Formats: sequence, structure tokens, C-alpha cells
Amino acid sequence: MAGIEVTSLHKTYPDGTVAVEHVDLSIGDGELFVMLGPSGCGKTTTLRAMAGLERQTSGDIRIGSTVVNDLPPARRDIAMVFQFYALYPHLRTRDNLAFPLRAEGLPKAEVSERVDEAARLMRLEPLLDRKPQRLSGGEQQRVALARALVRRPQVFLMDEPLTNLDAELRADMRTEIKHLQAELGTTMVYVTHDQVEAMSLGHRIAILNKGRVEQIGTPLEVYDRPASLFCARFIGSPPMNLLEVELTDGALRAPGGLVLTPPAGLGRDGSLVAGVRPEGLEIASPGSEDSIPAVVVSAEALGDEIIYVVDHGGDHDVRVRMPPTVRFAADAKVGLRYVGGTPPVYDSSTGKLVA
Ligand code: ATP
Repeated sequence: MAGIEVTSLHKTYPDGTVAVEHVDLSIGDGELFVMLGPSGCGKTTTLRAMAGLERQTSGDIRIGSTVVNDLPPARRDIAMVFQFYALYPHLRTRDNLAFPLRAEGLPKAEVSERVDEAARLMRLEPLLDRKPQRLSGGEQQRVALARALVRRPQVFLMDEPLTNLDAELRADMRTEIKHLQAELGTTMVYVTHDQVEAMSLGHRIAILNKGRVEQIGTPLEVYDRPASLFCARFIGSPPMNLLEVELTDGALRAPGGLVLTPPAGLGRDGSLVAGVRPEGLEIASPGSEDSIPAVVVSAEALGDEIIYVVDHGGDHDVRVRMPPTVRFAADAKVGLRYVGGTPPVYDSSTGKLVA
């Protein structure tokens, strides 16, 4: 097994597009590391550079103790699974799995042992004699994962492997990938633009924006304290409410009258924006303690929760997450209360977390 060190990775494509700008990543041995970001942020390019499918313009990639910059993909001891799982259509599952091992020239008995083990891990035993056209999308994806597993690589590289599956299958496969990675303990780098997938899978998440790393942290770290306004807008559904605030008399005051507790060490410089999660606000009866007057604009009932859009007299309406049992009609006059503890605060001109 092996960790991965990416140092000052830079990629400019021949047409001049800068896809990756001086990215540093230190991925632990046995870690499930997620690269998350919007389309075009450079995550696939970074992953393909790790795989050896794309040559970086500059920077180093180390897998285990080996600098792999000049090694072809086949000599990097990695297995990659893509969004489009190209199985051989004329081969049965068993032979699709055996293919990379036969290509390596492994003895027959070992091929068969490894295929059986991968089939057991991915619960493919009943499907070993079927060809891809007789498999569902989820089953085909399990075969693609199993085909990566049989190689027993030092590192798995996954590029949006669940994108083509429906919501229920995605959730199931997510659980399977997570269990599998924990069971095998193999380092995995997983690329996605889906923050729910990133949060539920990753030991740590790197959030990329325009070829640069904006933040690296555990799912809870990036949720609780996004490192920039970009991360604050990207993580969470709905995302954080971003309130322009002023620091006066030891309190953060937002237009409309909400008062928040400032983080320790916050200076008065710059124009400040506080990040307030929808669950950091609460709708209460009008006039109730610690609340400011507000009006319900609309409600989105999601079954297990209701997201209310509330006008509190500020520059922007805020979103408030409430249990499904608490019902307010549109136009209801209510109280709005802050219950979110100390919020992260950003400098609106740099977009960076200041405290
Ligand atoms: P997606 O989620 O859409 O796959 P991504 O975050 O994986 O996006 P990349 O595919 O790494 O992003 O692309 C990063 C940037 O590099 C984008 O601006 C993209 O248009 C550009 N790019 C990718 N491949 C090439 C190429 N072969 N030639 C020129 N530009 C490219």
C-alpha cells in the first residue's frame, strides 16, 4: 500500500488552458481522499496526471516511495475506474474480470482465485456467466469496480464512477465503495462534483476551484468552517446564508437586526461576511425571546425537513431549516432567532476566512 504526494502540480494544455495550478496534496496510505469541485475545476486533470494518462507541465507525483513522473500508467501500480465503465461486451463477467490478470501473464490458478475473491467482495457470484448486455447499470458498475479490484493495486483512482446510475443505486454503490475501501485499506482518490457523495465517502475532501485547492479537510471541517466564500457556497444544501455584518460593541450585527457572536480574534478591518447555516437559524413565534421580526416568504417541504425562505429585513432573504412538524404558511409573521454558535467570518473582498 502507498500514500500519494503531489507537489506543485501544474498543467497547461497545448492550447494554453491552465487546468491545474500548483496543487499540493498529501494523501495518506489507506485514505479515501475525495477531490470535489465544479465542472472544469481541474479534478480530472489532476487524477489523470496521478494515473499517468496526462503528463503534467511541472511538479512531482510520488506514489509510495517512488516518484512516478516518468512512469507509464501500467508501471504505477494503480487501477482506475471511470464514469463510463468500458466492459468488453463479448466477454462474460468472469472473463471481463480475468482480462487484466491474463494480460499480466499471471498463472491460471491465481487468476481464478483473484476473480473469485473480487466477485465475492462485489457480490457478483451469481452474475459471473453473464455478458454485459444482460447486466443492469449498477451491476455493470460493480463489474467495473471488481475489475479494478482484481489487480490488487496500491492505489484506486475513481473518476465520477457513479454518475450514470440512478439516485437509489448511487446511494447503494456509495455504501459499497466505502465498505470495500475500509475492508481492503487501499488508498483511494475519488473525483466527484457531487458534494453529498464527497461528504458521505471521504475521510478528507479537497475542494478545487479554477485549478487551485481552496480547502482540504474532513467532511465536518469543511462543513463547519469553509475556508473561503467559494467553499461556503459550494458545500451544504441549501448552502450557507452569507450575511454582511459589522463588528460593533463586541457583536456582529447584520442588516435587519440579527446579532451574532463574533469569533475570537476578529478584527474590524475589511467588509465582513458571516456564514450562517440554515440550521443555525430558527423560526419562532413573533416576539419570542431573542428573536427579530420576520416574514415567511416561501417553504420547500422536503419530507424530513422544511426549508423556509424568510425575509428578516436584511439585504437578502435567509434560508432556515426546520423539522417537518413545524409548519408556517407563506406571509406568516414570525420571529427569527440565531442558534448557530460562533459563525465563520469572511473578508468579502478576498473571499477568505478571517476568523
Ligand atoms: P468535469 O467535472 O467537467 O470533468 P474537471 O474538474 O474534471 O471537470 P478537467 O477535465 O480537469 O476539469 O478540466 C480542467 C480545465 O482544463 C477545463 O477548463 C477544461 O476545459 C480544460 N481541459 C481539459 N482537457 C483539455 C484538453 N485536452 N485541452 C485543453 N483544455 C482542456
